[in-house]
Amino acid sequence: MSAVEILRTEKGRARGLPTREEQAVLVCIGACLAAILVASVLLTGVPAGVAVVSLEFDDTLANQLSARSILAEHRMHATFFVNSGRLDRPGYLTVAQLRALASDGHEIGGHTIDHARLPGLPAREQRHQICEDRRALLALGFDVSDFAYPNGDYDSASAEQVRACGYESAREVGGIGYPPCIFCTWAETIPPRDPMATRTPGSLRRAHSLPRIQSLVRRAQPAGGWIQLTFHHLCDACDDYSISTEDLSTLLGWLAEEREAGRVAVLTVRQVIGSGASDENDLHFQH
Ligand SMILES: [Zn+2]
Repeated sequence: MSAVEILRTEKGRARGLPTREEQAVLVCIGACLAAILVASVLLTGVPAGVAVVSLEFDDTLANQLSARSILAEHRMHATFFVNSGRLDRPGYLTVAQLRALASDGHEIGGHTIDHARLPGLPAREQRHQICEDRRALLALGFDVSDFAYPNGDYDSASAEQVRACGYESAREVGGIGYPPCIFCTWAETIPPRDPMATRTPGSLRRAHSLPRIQSLVRRAQPAGGWIQLTFHHLCDACDDYSISTEDLSTLLGWLAEEREAGRVAVLTVRQVIGSGASDENDLHFQH
């Protein structure tokens, strides 16, 4: 089953109907939005009205383990982009913890051995950082098919190397604008315009309020599309790139409500890209 089929199934299972307030908003947006919506569906095949959200945790940080229970509570799967060289080191996830996350159904992705900045590195070193990282994660038993460029930095050589190392997608930082920017791209397409540089709103920081994060998802809903939410530290203001467990829980609760209403699907990167869409374990939480 493809990602699009998963979404159509979810849409068909939606129990809620739009509220009067939502209907009024849709009417106000009018013909312009309808034209965008139709064009989007024709171009991407994503059901209109549905934002596909991926929850992504970068950098192998130990405090991300707190997400495990929150994700389980809301029956959602995330993607953890891991630096294999950090595993079992102080402050980082252990191999055992990563296995526990994978056994829950979360995706494990690659993020280089030690968070190297790829552009400018000699080709041999790029290959080492990207391919050896993937090999190390595969050797630990993880099914690794998606990659995220450290700090979103890439060039044509590193993108080609990521593909040559066997990855099916790679995530950049940027390309999606926050509301109220009306001329920005609102969501990544499914399938992505360039799978080796999938676009995002950038890494989430403490300064991003929940309404601001929600606005990204809401704006992607009318036309349909993919929003990748990238988290780092999961803690109470321990870092600029952080979200508290309380805020993450609130955000996932809201996403669960939107999912119940048929307006959001929470999928891993692999499910969106397609290679994992037939994995029964991955699909379990989507129904
Ligand atoms: Zn990173």
